[in-house]
Amino acid sequence: MSARSWLTASAFTVAAVTLAGCAQLAPEPSAAPVAEAAKWSYDGESGPASWGAVDSSFEACAAGTAQSPIDLPLTVPVTTTSIDLAVEAVDGDVFDSGHAVEVETDGEGETLTFAGDEFSLQQMHAHVPSEHTVGGQPAAAELHLVHKDVDGNLLVLGILVSEGEASEALVPFIEAATHPADKDEVVLDVAGVLPASLENYEYSGSLTTPPCTEGVQWVVLSTPISMSAEQIDTLEEVHRHNARPTQPLGGRTVVGGTGEVENEG
Ligand SMILES: [Zn+2]
Repeated sequence: MSARSWLTASAFTVAAVTLAGCAQLAPEPSAAPVAEAAKWSYDGESGPASWGAVDSSFEACAAGTAQSPIDLPLTVPVTTTSIDLAVEAVDGDVFDSGHAVEVETDGEGETLTFAGDEFSLQQMHAHVPSEHTVGGQPAAAELHLVHKDVDGNLLVLGILVSEGEASEALVPFIEAATHPADKDEVVLDVAGVLPASLENYEYSGSLTTPPCTEGVQWVVLSTPISMSAEQIDTLEEVHRHNARPTQPLGGRTVVGGTGEVENEG
């Protein structure tokens, strides 16, 4: 095995093991990602309404009772908790996961503390339009920053996007998204991506893509960030409408939270 093919295989193993908040789980490192990705889609016969029937391992997509995304209330519930983000420059590779433009990090550079548990950033990807809605209304786009703790528990930080000024911090990600097959290495300024306020909605949900695994902690920031129409168009050209419809809240409760960010340079 050449150094290059080892790197490729190794990178894929990491991608498979780190589970990818909204990417599919590959059963074997050697499995063809394209074949896996082709099993489900965002429209037609393999679209969201059929995910539970596409593969036996996707059962939670249909039978789950704590699924994501959900419709969020217009007013953030009374704040009860706080998250802490410690960020520095994050290195990662930008590529097309098959269902979203994604930057996969080396797991270093950003940690998020939630309820005393420390999570580290594994990957970030984009949905156009947003998956979570607020008062029934989708945002132009939504970024998902997928985090994992040492026990493998997942926390996804959701950032809603409004169309407006360009995001300077997202320029390297967007530029790499224009040629996602090249797997460009970028430096992501996570602190620069965040909105001014970390006020948020928190609830327990699932991956928003098959296998729709539950037990995922969601933290969705209530303040949207801004991206230009051109930036949103670039992401949309790679994947058009990669958003799962909202799911029933059921017996769950959405609580409010705040947060602080510490930029470590
Ligand atoms: Zn996602």
